[in-house]
Amino acid sequence: MNLTWESRSCPLCGSTAEGKVIVESNVELSRLTEFAFASRKLPEYMHSRMVECNVCGLLYGTPAVSSDSGLNAYRDAAFDSGQESQFAAQTYAKLIADQLNFIGSRERALDIGAGDGAFLEQLVQLGFRDITGVEPSAAPIACSKPHVRNMMRHDIFRARDFEGQRFDLVTCFQVMEHLWNPGELARDVNSILNPGGLFVTVTHNLRAFSARLLGDKSPIFDIEHLQLFSEKTIRALLQRSGFTDIRVMPVWNRYPIHYWMKLAPLPQNLKKGLIAVARQGPLASVACSLPAGNMAAVARKP
Ligand SMILES: [Zn+2]
Repeated sequence: MNLTWESRSCPLCGSTAEGKVIVESNVELSRLTEFAFASRKLPEYMHSRMVECNVCGLLYGTPAVSSDSGLNAYRDAAFDSGQESQFAAQTYAKLIADQLNFIGSRERALDIGAGDGAFLEQLVQLGFRDITGVEPSAAPIACSKPHVRNMMRHDIFRARDFEGQRFDLVTCFQVMEHLWNPGELARDVNSILNPGGLFVTVTHNLRAFSARLLGDKSPIFDIEHLQLFSEKTIRALLQRSGFTDIRVMPVWNRYPIHYWMKLAPLPQNLKKGLIAVARQGPLASVACSLPAGNMAAVARKP
């Protein structure tokens, strides 16, 4: 895998002061596979050097996988989590349904990091008429259902690609950690929303119980994650990007047992054995909901 690393300033407040090093990099390139930049992978527990900004408190990677080499890695990443993406889309649809009373119209919606388009199916169910998903990886798009494939763009999100369009809802699930410049994305989203329109993100919460319990052994410390948010820092990012009425709430994710096993703090070989067992027979479709340390942030464009 052809990755390059670059140092960076704080992606939230721009501070160039050297923050407190929370954990050093432990990346071994030879152990990375085509799943390293895939969604819902078996974690390798490899991460960049993570520092805490001494101005705004954001935890971010520096040096981190450069924007260009990261993008190439996402383009080529494998995809094997279609079942899990259906479960995640249902969780997010429930979350959104509660928020839709706050928007005036359900005309146009955009999902950034749409994966295999599972959430686009939910947006259809929720009554949106003009739906677009953008996704940089080719493999999940190839797995999308025919009736949503024509809503998907195989690309990264750029506001200029949507010039002249105004959205009522923009969603961005499990993406903000992966971006070199998450503030730029939030400002760009703001620029394409209708006044009163909603931006909804789901990210990991660095201060959630599971993350505090496991510390840097948590799977959220990952080569894909260029920053990790807390309620305070996601709120600050959205405020700086022009949003108002920001609400942050925990998310109970519902996934099959075999996916939860991927995240369990167990030795890799034992874990692989348990996952293989859980993927077979009636157990394969048994799911449960857990507060696995995700949070949703819902913000409104004034
Ligand atoms: Zn900062």
